[in-house]
Amino acid sequence: MTVEELLKYDREHVWHPYTSMTNPSPVYPVKRAEGVYLELEDGTRLIDGMSSWWSAIHGYNHPVLNAAVERQLKSMSHVMFGGLTHAPAVELASRLLAIAPKGLSNVFFSDSGSVAVEVAMKMALQYWYARGREEKRYFLTIKRGYHGDTWNAMSVCDPVTGMHSIFRGTLPMHHFVSSPTARYGEPCAPADIDEFQTCLRNNHTRVAAVILEPIVQGAGGMWFYSADYLRKVHELCYLYDILLVCDEVATGFCRTGKMWACDHAGVAPSIMCVGKALTGGYTGLAATMTTEGVARVICSRPPGLFMHGPTFMGNPLACAVANASLDLLRAYDPVEGRVKEIETLLREGLWPLSLLDSVADVRVLGAIGVVEMKEPVDVAAVQAAFVEEGVWVRPFGKLVYVMPPYIITPAETRSLTLAITRVVSRL
Ligand code: PLP
Repeated sequence: MTVEELLKYDREHVWHPYTSMTNPSPVYPVKRAEGVYLELEDGTRLIDGMSSWWSAIHGYNHPVLNAAVERQLKSMSHVMFGGLTHAPAVELASRLLAIAPKGLSNVFFSDSGSVAVEVAMKMALQYWYARGREEKRYFLTIKRGYHGDTWNAMSVCDPVTGMHSIFRGTLPMHHFVSSPTARYGEPCAPADIDEFQTCLRNNHTRVAAVILEPIVQGAGGMWFYSADYLRKVHELCYLYDILLVCDEVATGFCRTGKMWACDHAGVAPSIMCVGKALTGGYTGLAATMTTEGVARVICSRPPGLFMHGPTFMGNPLACAVANASLDLLRAYDPVEGRVKEIETLLREGLWPLSLLDSVADVRVLGAIGVVEMKEPVDVAAVQAAFVEEGVWVRPFGKLVYVMPPYIITPAETRSLTLAITRVVSRL
């Protein structure tokens, strides 16, 4: 197939994320990826600002990750997890739990962040079922959230950006409170927590769990909110005996400057989801972790099982590369320092944009930089401008944002922020 034929077939037959099949937006054919660079079929090299949606934290084609996959491939790429177990999965479980927030002691592996969220929600419902409280089958969450595109995950995404209206009548209905207005670094705004507490007070008898993205609301608006708010939410969950589910699928593995975003608030959830960067972006793998207490209760009532079991659960290839990715994270010594350096450069590079009339806000946390425009951007046009500038940045709505791989050099980070400055200044 020539590149032209490939693009034609793609345009006519292959769906891309959130795109039209009748009026598809342009796509760029990638030939290979190495380090922090994506190389297009025509030889153009782009500095990757997206880490393939939070996942490729060590960059692409990494020798250590490649070697882990090759080694694992020679013994087995996959075996069923029902009735069998293997070293890559058990090793990964023990390593994840060793770095997880306090109290998390049991792991359920799955294939994607959305499924990890489904699993977390099912765990919460089965927990209350086992305690004989079957009326507790609703979730409380905050607006502007994003938890994935499967059915239950979608039901706790922001109702507007998650387009709940399309699925009206078929989606489970949950409780939503406003997204916290207090920014990261600020104390909790009383009105924010009052609204949360009122909702919990009025509905706690029917609420199984609060589910949220700790500190960073990602795809729902790239909003960084007060750690103090999260701390208070945690306290209220404890007070009302409600489980807290933290969705760290995007934020995990130090993206926000701490290993887990909930560490900013010193909060240990009852259930936590991870995915994306778990394998260094090599392949789909996610995990839902919970406490011994929750796990024991779930298994205390007949059928005495947790009712989930995907075909590719604990896939050995994925687990092997995840173990290697954890080795690389440890080798930064410490990774928090590496992320802090990126944060400083992103802040220096992006901050001046806040002076532009067209820009509503600039915010940086860890290795995440966000420029929020006053008006929505023309994604296709802006993306083309970024490619011209030699970087890969994919905006959505009013948001131009980056979360580069941790291996990015200071010079490459400056090139990235310079490209953003040039493109945004023209909008
Ligand atoms: N949860 C959060 C916070 C996410 O950002 C995402 C994806 O962007 C998901 C869940 C869903 O993960 P996946 O796309 O792997 O299903």
